[in-house]
Amino acid sequence: MRGSVREHVVLAPMMHLRIGGPADWFVEPYGEEDVGLVVRACRELDVPLRVLGGGSNVVVADDGVRGAVLHLGNLNRIVRDGTRVAAGAGVTLPSLLRATKDVGLAGLERLTGIPAQVGGAVAMNAGTRDGETFDLVSSLVVVEPDGAIAVRGPDRFRARYRDGGLEGAVVLQATFALVPDDPAAIFERFSQSLKKRNATQPVAQRSVGCVFRNPAGDAAGRLIEVAGCKLLRIGGIEVSGLHANYFVNDGTGSAADFVALMQEVRRRVRDRFGIELEPEVRFWGG
Ligand SMILES: Cc1cc2nc3c(=O)[nH]c(=O)nc-3n(C[C@H](O)[C@H](O)[C@H](O)COP(=O)(O)OP(=O)(O)OC[C@H]3O[C@@H](n4cnc5c(N)ncnc54)[C@H](O)[C@@H]3O)c2cc1C
Repeated sequence: MRGSVREHVVLAPMMHLRIGGPADWFVEPYGEEDVGLVVRACRELDVPLRVLGGGSNVVVADDGVRGAVLHLGNLNRIVRDGTRVAAGAGVTLPSLLRATKDVGLAGLERLTGIPAQVGGAVAMNAGTRDGETFDLVSSLVVVEPDGAIAVRGPDRFRARYRDGGLEGAVVLQATFALVPDDPAAIFERFSQSLKKRNATQPVAQRSVGCVFRNPAGDAAGRLIEVAGCKLLRIGGIEVSGLHANYFVNDGTGSAADFVALMQEVRRRVRDRFGIELEPEVRFWGG
């Protein structure tokens, strides 16, 4: 395999929350074929394999994760063909948005402010009130769980609310179908979304975005706020005073604090509304 393999790598600096112990192995393949080789090798050797994107939706346990963590930062190419734009899994959404806006291609501004990589946005079907990732995806290149590289078209998409329905595949590349528009108009929509987000979410603090999924017909943030949880704190993790579905780390928090706060918030919402909140955030280890 071309790429780097490092042993015992602490994950916290790579996580948006800045929390998490070491991975046994941290693997950064060079190209798409190399990712396939890693998937096949881990399968044959029975080594657990996880894929890390931008680390903006994962809480890693304080004692870390066993097995290998795959990071696809080297898959960072953006290729345009008319109104279609293919982006590697390691491209960040903000840089893709900038690149497509500059050439007058609209659509991605509905994902403004999401600090994901393309692979993570697809895996989570990340979205906002204005739309979600799979509104725009026309095809995917993936490594299937058996290690084979395959192209998936819409007939094989299984995306749902905040779940890309990948069924164990690793995303290598996504192609987005965009529409021509004036760069100034795209920029204006982007700026408006960003302004709204900055005013209503603690974007400058360490978090994983929304901790819980919105239950049908309601908003988890509203339920948490009405249940009296704003500014509730355990250790270094606090329910944001700006948006109650965001938990923020003051720099001293641990994964154990995060989980304990989630349990307490769930209990209070259950007691008050009889609703069981489901996590949107993913947990590794522990
Ligand atoms: C400040 C802030 C604001 C946010 N706002 C939003 C928002 O408005 N809307 C929203 O939906 N989310 C939001 N989020 C959450 C998060 O950004 C999204 O869930 C995003 O899709 C995660 O992408 P990531 O690249 O960081 O993935 P990670 O957090 O690294 O991983 C998330 C999941 O995707 C999997 N994954 C990552 N890459 C791949 C790949 N190449 N192939 C297969 N699986 C992969 C991981 O294994 C993991 O299960 C926010 C988070 C923060 C911190």
